[in-house]
Amino acid sequence: MRVRFAPSPTGQLHVGNARTALFNWLLARRHGGRFILRIEDTDVERSTRESEAGILRDLRWLGLDWDEGPDIGGKRGPYRQSERLHLYESYARELLASGQGYHCFCSIAQLDAERQAALAAGRPARYSGACRTIPRDRAEARIAAGERPAIRFRVPEGREIIFDDAVRGTVRFQTDVIGDPVIVRADGTPAYNFAVVVDDALMEVTHVIRGEDHISNTPRQLLLYEALGFNPPVFAHLSLVMGPDHSPLSKRHGATAVAEFRARGYLPEALVNYLALIGWSPGGGDELLAIDDLARRFSLEQVGLSAGVFDEEKLAWVNRHYLKMADARRLAELAVPFFNQAGIVMAPAGRGVEFLAAAMPMAAASVDRLDQVPRRLAFLFDYSPEAALAGPGVRDEMQGASARGVVAALAEALESAPRLDRERFRAVAGALKMRTGQKGRALFHPIRVALTGRAEGPELDLALPAIDLGAELPNNAGVPPVLGCRERAAAFVEVLRS
Ligand code: GLU
Repeated sequence: MRVRFAPSPTGQLHVGNARTALFNWLLARRHGGRFILRIEDTDVERSTRESEAGILRDLRWLGLDWDEGPDIGGKRGPYRQSERLHLYESYARELLASGQGYHCFCSIAQLDAERQAALAAGRPARYSGACRTIPRDRAEARIAAGERPAIRFRVPEGREIIFDDAVRGTVRFQTDVIGDPVIVRADGTPAYNFAVVVDDALMEVTHVIRGEDHISNTPRQLLLYEALGFNPPVFAHLSLVMGPDHSPLSKRHGATAVAEFRARGYLPEALVNYLALIGWSPGGGDELLAIDDLARRFSLEQVGLSAGVFDEEKLAWVNRHYLKMADARRLAELAVPFFNQAGIVMAPAGRGVEFLAAAMPMAAASVDRLDQVPRRLAFLFDYSPEAALAGPGVRDEMQGASARGVVAALAEALESAPRLDRERFRAVAGALKMRTGQKGRALFHPIRVALTGRAEGPELDLALPAIDLGAELPNNAGVPPVLGCRERAAAFVEVLRS
């Protein structure tokens, strides 16, 4: 089995295309086949190397590795269409020689006028075939005189093209509705339908899995396989990924590019898992599966016909699952850019990384995405009693007799206590309870406000040890200074008094 993903490098990798790549990859891995990456860059105006590099980066980030491709080569290369022009040229010559191709001298303006007239008359806008009957020698003479024609493929008349789509079942097309497609443009560049057939055939692709938007190209491609004497592959057309309004997912709906989802703090394993679930179900009631498990279970037969709606809520749910499972050190490293973006400037090193990793589980347990981590952990770095007391109703509450008592006792207890870990915090809380007679919220809420500077946040027996771990960091830890619980309590009492 040989499958391919064939993106056009004209922008960022769209999640719909990433899903196409993923399904190809899953099938290849399931059957021990090869996954080929081919860059379809014949649209010179719109293709860029930056886009190609971005697509490769995003595929790698998702964990979709390829066995043959533009960067690593392979036995059926080159893998960029712009480097295969000689091949298209030679097959176009073959089609001209056999009469299955012909030169078309129609100008763009002529073709446009033809199209407008057809549309106005309610006829399908297909090529009229004006140049079909120009004799070969006449065409050669016009070329010799300086005209630059396109090459069209002569679609046989009165035929029905039938193919068995691995997802959609039997598909039929009448050739009479298909106008003769351009296979080589006047500027010498190959058209998509032609290049793709030459490439898929020469690269020995056995299964073409792509978006449903290409299904109307398939009969043209099948005719070209036939004309060139190649064996066609199996085709599978996947329903497109839709927005909530059931139109194809586009910028109008919000983020569409893999890079955007990365920038919002989704983990690659979450995006992969979620994309696999759009239009396919692993069965057995399981939805949360790592990429290798997805590959073990994947089959085209189970890919559904109906379009899948991209549901960011569900993606967030999948992401939460992977955030909870992920290694804390990895999360810490991934979170660093998000801290910097949020204005918490850091470049953690050594114990700074360990500190951040230790703090990560309490954030990861309660966010949808990594970009929400800095807010969740900001209490470590930006403690200010004034800011805490400025919150609505906080000063009144904290100046009440009971809260005042708790805070004063807390400051006193911490004055002589060692830095808090979980056990020590529990011991301090127990002692405060005895001493002040407060319990539950009346005890813990003032402690939270005084030590984290916030009315809400992670569990105190996680948050306070994290603060005190941070307070012990050396200067070269690469994170902003963390004020310890003892110092916070003292400062809070001071400000409360003033
Ligand atoms: N370059 C085409 C695209 O990005 C590939 C279509 C195909 O897989 O045949 O849509």
